[in-house]
Amino acid sequence: MLKLTIDGKEARVRPGVTIYWAAKSLGIEVPHLCYGEDVPAISSCRLCVVEVEGQKNLAASCSHPAADGMVVRTNTERVLKARRMNLELILSDHSVECITCDKSGSCALERYAYEFGLKESRFTGPHRARNLHKLDRENPFFERDYNKCILCGRCVLACGELQFDSAIDYAGRGFKAHIATAFHRPLVESTCEACGRCISVCPVGALTERARLGAGREWELEAASTICPYCGVGCAVDLHTKKGRLVKTTTHSQDTVNRGNLCVKGKFGLYYLDHPERLATPLIRRDGKLEPASWEEALSLVARRLAEIKAQHGPGALGGLSSAKCTNEENYLFQRFVRAALGTNNVDHCARLCHASTVTGLAKAFGSGAMTNPISELRFADCILVTGSNTTEAHPVIGLEIRAAVKKNGAALIVADPREIDLVRYARVWLRQRSGTDVALFNGLMQVILAENLTNKKFIAKRTEDFEKFQAVARQYTPERVQSITGVDPEKLRQAARLYAGAATASIVYSMGITQHTTGTDNVLTLANLAMLTGQIGRRSTGVNPLRGQNNVQGACDVGALPNVYPGYQPVANPDAREKFQKAWQAELSGEPGLTVVEMLHGASEGRIKALYIMGENPFLSDPNQNRVKLDLASLEFLVVQDIFLSETARFAHVVLPAAAFAEKDGTFTNTERKVQLLRQAKMPPGEARADWRILCELSTRLGHPLSYQSSSEIMDELARLTPIYGGISHRRLEKRALAWPCPDAEHPGTPVLHTGMFSRGKGLFTAVEYVPPAEEPDQDYPFLLTTGRILYHYHTGTMSRRVQSLDAVRPDGFVEVNPEDARALGITEGTMCLVSSRRGKVTARAVLTPRSRPGSVFMAFHFAEAAANLLTNDALDPVAKIPEFKVCAVRLAPTG
Ligand code: SF4
Repeated sequence: MLKLTIDGKEARVRPGVTIYWAAKSLGIEVPHLCYGEDVPAISSCRLCVVEVEGQKNLAASCSHPAADGMVVRTNTERVLKARRMNLELILSDHSVECITCDKSGSCALERYAYEFGLKESRFTGPHRARNLHKLDRENPFFERDYNKCILCGRCVLACGELQFDSAIDYAGRGFKAHIATAFHRPLVESTCEACGRCISVCPVGALTERARLGAGREWELEAASTICPYCGVGCAVDLHTKKGRLVKTTTHSQDTVNRGNLCVKGKFGLYYLDHPERLATPLIRRDGKLEPASWEEALSLVARRLAEIKAQHGPGALGGLSSAKCTNEENYLFQRFVRAALGTNNVDHCARLCHASTVTGLAKAFGSGAMTNPISELRFADCILVTGSNTTEAHPVIGLEIRAAVKKNGAALIVADPREIDLVRYARVWLRQRSGTDVALFNGLMQVILAENLTNKKFIAKRTEDFEKFQAVARQYTPERVQSITGVDPEKLRQAARLYAGAATASIVYSMGITQHTTGTDNVLTLANLAMLTGQIGRRSTGVNPLRGQNNVQGACDVGALPNVYPGYQPVANPDAREKFQKAWQAELSGEPGLTVVEMLHGASEGRIKALYIMGENPFLSDPNQNRVKLDLASLEFLVVQDIFLSETARFAHVVLPAAAFAEKDGTFTNTERKVQLLRQAKMPPGEARADWRILCELSTRLGHPLSYQSSSEIMDELARLTPIYGGISHRRLEKRALAWPCPDAEHPGTPVLHTGMFSRGKGLFTAVEYVPPAEEPDQDYPFLLTTGRILYHYHTGTMSRRVQSLDAVRPDGFVEVNPEDARALGITEGTMCLVSSRRGKVTARAVLTPRSRPGSVFMAFHFAEAAANLLTNDALDPVAKIPEFKVCAVRLAPTG
């Protein structure tokens, strides 16, 4: 440790620490403008200067390293004079508009000018008040006011050094100097991903969220810290509200998953909370129309109809879809309500449509179907294999960690994806397999590893079983055979195999490109085989890491919103587990596993399911083969939808119940890395909308299974008592920090890395997996392969993101991505409206020409109701996980004009 003296006090710091941080360790604040604590120092503003004994010139404390024996003074007359002068120079080029500036109150320049008593600058020049630069309102998310910009460079540094993007840079000289988009392209056409990090580091009013302009002064805002409701990353968001309306969203880096980063949806995409279309009162269908009703009318109708249908057709005619958007406490109550009050295990949710094959595959191989390692370890992996995950668009903050691993730490990135996703730019090897050939591809990688003796023999012998059966199959997938199935160059396959097997630590990251296949479970099993074959599991920065789609899809699974398991994956068919829950809930429970999402919906048109209760899901848009889903929903005798908006599914309902959104209640979400995090209420729900758990308690009680809790924390306590992996989790503990399950007791610190000493099932199980082609492949009638996915600016069925003006402005409509080669042959040009048809339906969409899709393949996002990709997709199911094959189906393409 170094010892130095600052303003007469002794500081002890590690070598490499700057004077700024040494002073901070003593509680001494040094003013600074160009230096942000999360961006690198460039020492241009010279506001942080200090005197160092023995040095002639003043030193910039943000970059000057502390040294042993150093004597520093931070507030001498000379220092203050220099700072004042520097501040005046900065002010000379700043348009002082504090009385109307939205940043007033949080502006660092305003604060320092106040502290130094500076009303104006002595210096003059053609400064920005003369409107040398125009206000930049080009992009829908934020405005850049060059007249207030002090050229501190923080935004440039944040973009380049924290986001690894470099969408902006300096341009011009002297008073014409300004921040410009790289290559002078409009920001929306640049590589800018609108993460908003530049706004968060801007110390003045040069960058401001557009939606907050005029919506409230800093000192009028109330802030509450909660968790982003979009994807499974689980970023912390601080919601700033005025009189119950959201004004702006920020984040912080202390103890958060996202280290101060957000993506465009977390930063700018939460304004749907105050959208005028929020449901504010219950609705009942009368004469074919949904009309406002009182809670009493709505709840008594729901209770009466569900009881009647149960009495007439038995509990098996009822079913419920829970919600990966709701809290753990609400999902726990929902499955308890379905099981104990309705009397059936017909309860499922959208995990069936995204990661059911992860749960079946990883549970079989390892004994636990969840991400094995924390997000924070990714940036330290020596090699990362990303497959079936467009990470930078679907899980942007994890995408950032992968970019950091490559750019900062030199990790070797292998991308295995049929589409040229953004991460390909950072990849050492890109394996562009044909869609639906993943088993062959990964067997091929393992064949090389086996043939070249790159296996981890010690790990295999000590920690796994069934290796011989597995290797007999894997050895048959020579690179040349794999090329004939996948189209991947044998040399690239060998290169990737050597990189992965040869790395000291290698992580696998995958998502729905792997799971949403009729061979989804097999795909997951081959990835588990790969990790075990090389011993790349059970250690830091290794593992098999499925990225869960929805914010709380992991939690909804954990707490039992699945047809075959109670909370904590305790099988309903296990008599002991059943007995345990019967006793706790004081109810007779069925030991028959229930129906899955697609089985329940199809059961409706087949006459087996008469009533469905859907909480916060939109199967009309999210499920495959939309025409069939329409028939299913229309066939129901009774449909209840509980949601925040009148979704496409809610339009079929007999009763609609208005629910509170994430920011209007408390509870917990479990993110993709199994971390349970606390939600805090930031605002009140609109009108008469209520928290889902309160609605469920009321209904369950009316149906003869009384539920009553004072708070969501009480529900968590009950859930923890019955769920060993959540046994030590309580809201009280989560107030201090998030906990990763398994967390079996109140003293347990949580388990960030799974399978360290042994696998959850004891030994890891190898499975021999043969390649099986997709259920439907292109043919003469339908010659193109359609694959579906997400885009950065929208989310899932668009219920939330399409009600955010700025997000919708960037991507207002559906599209079909076509390779230029195919487009030429079909006479399609950029923007041509195309008819895309499959054996199940037709949609019209605008053509986007791009080589991102392989020739012969097209891509559509599934967010857009008017160009619904799921009218086309195939509802063929994986036989084990019952997940549909969203990722491959055969289509025809023709220009409409
Ligand atoms: Fe929200 Fe996911 Fe974006 Fe984080 S990465 S801000 S959790 S959508």
